Amino acid sequence: MKTLWAPWRMEYILSDKDGECIFCQAFSGEGALTLYKGATTMVVMNKYPYINGHLLVSPVRHVDAMRLLNREEKGDLLETVEQAIAILKTVMNPDGFNVGLNLGKVAGAGVEAHLHFHIVPRWFGDTNALTVFADLRVIPEHIRVTYRNLKPHFDKLSERI
Ligand SMILES: [Zn+2]
Repeated sequence: MKTLWAPWRMEYILSDKDGECIFCQAFSGEGALTLYKGATTMVVMNKYPYINGHLLVSPVRHVDAMRLLNREEKGDLLETVEQAIAILKTVMNPDGFNVGLNLGKVAGAGVEAHLHFHIVPRWFGDTNALTVFADLRVIPEHIRVTYRNLKPHFDKLSERI
């Protein structure tokens, strides 16, 4: 069986069918998967993750390019990425990470209008588990458990800022 590791490919599932931006929704609403709301950045769990612990870090402002962020927002964004990685390390002890931006549909962006970093924790041998995850699509329970494990750490983040 061929194993294709394409952590960004299924992002289209994320795109909201009503056309409302899922990041702006997650920030203004009571997004059940929102881990962190900061002054300029936010962290949400990917509702349809490639693997458990797949996080999305975005600016609060609805912009589609890095160049539209001011210096403070850029700094905060990278710092939040770093902090999210640190929390995942603490809670889930992965062997590594894929971290990246999908810019443009051709690159796999599902929500092009609102810039966001993907943080995907990786474990040795996880490509096998991924096919199981992908077939099942029953991750909601995993997500809630992971959310409960991660949330206290992100809450501490809020207190620090
Ligand atoms: Zn938005």
